[in-house]
Amino acid sequence: MKFSEIPAHSSVKSRLKQMVDTGRLPHALLISGPEGTGKLALARALAQYLQCTDRNGGDSCGHCPSCLQHRSLNHADMHYVFPVVKKKSEGLLISNDYLPQWREFLSGRTFASWQDWLNTLDAGNSRPAIYVDEAENILRVANMSTLSSPIKVVLIWLPEKLGPDAANKLLKIIEEPWEDTRFILVSNNASAILPTIFSRTQRINLPRLTAREIESLLVEGYSINPQEAQTLAHVADGNACTALDALDSQGETEEFASLFREVMRKAYSRDVKALREMADKIAATGREKNCRLLEYFTRMARENFIYNLAMPELNRMTPEEENFSRRFSPFIHSGNVEAMVSDMDSAASDIARNANAKIVMFDTLLRLIVHLRKPVIK
Ligand SMILES: [Zn+2]
Repeated sequence: MKFSEIPAHSSVKSRLKQMVDTGRLPHALLISGPEGTGKLALARALAQYLQCTDRNGGDSCGHCPSCLQHRSLNHADMHYVFPVVKKKSEGLLISNDYLPQWREFLSGRTFASWQDWLNTLDAGNSRPAIYVDEAENILRVANMSTLSSPIKVVLIWLPEKLGPDAANKLLKIIEEPWEDTRFILVSNNASAILPTIFSRTQRINLPRLTAREIESLLVEGYSINPQEAQTLAHVADGNACTALDALDSQGETEEFASLFREVMRKAYSRDVKALREMADKIAATGREKNCRLLEYFTRMARENFIYNLAMPELNRMTPEEENFSRRFSPFIHSGNVEAMVSDMDSAASDIARNANAKIVMFDTLLRLIVHLRKPVIK
């Protein structure tokens, strides 16, 4: 990853390059900020720049042996540490055991989200973390001499997932690593990092991308027409991962939007027969899609509630969604929004836990009839 492949953040890039150029890259640097800003990509570009043997024009060259090894995520002196699911029976304990999945996760991806990683790992209900075995391996790596570069890099993605035992083992090495070792930590939530680790790092905070920056990313990188890019950027609220996910699932979102309109109309007119048919049709599309649909319905219930406040800066809707909300939003109010959202949340978790989707879905749609008739709480 070269700096030039990452959009925006020109002042942060200059600062990072300057740290390397002047030999002042801290032993432990923490790059933090909200998801979808390109932190991990910047950390990778920094490591590649540091280890490039032919730096020129303010960037790594992209073709020296070191850069080529970075590109294939195969550099002997570049060590990746990230949250994993420990599977003892399969011999999967630490990040190194998950390198194939890590390469798949990062290949062609500048903006990488936690959800993308969970999907790549096929994590199911487990919560990946950075365990004490990983800390022991980091100590081993830090004590090894370098193999091909004068400096080795340990990149820790999401240090907020380090448990206390693992963190305790790393305190000393992060505070005083060997001269030839640099730690780069990349965090989505710096306030969740254990203070003992946090206090031993120098920090760079990456701001959210602006709507304008996401728009140009979509127009220039994905050939999206400017008007559509503007809508996606608005909905993404500074998170490039959200914008790109929306782009991926655009067809599905339109389908969900049309179902939302139809369900609300049928529920308002108390058309139980139509609701039953719709519940059956929806259930047949599979559990995962049902959960995404319910998540969309929940979001739309909230958006419509907010729409009544007439504070457009708080709304994240596409023009089509807004079109419907103009007349529909008064039906979602203080008297029913909580119950509606809570119903759909429990329906999603019941369906995810293998409950009968037809029954759960029909029950949830029926309850909408009651919710829509509830009075406003004054
Ligand atoms: Zn190079």
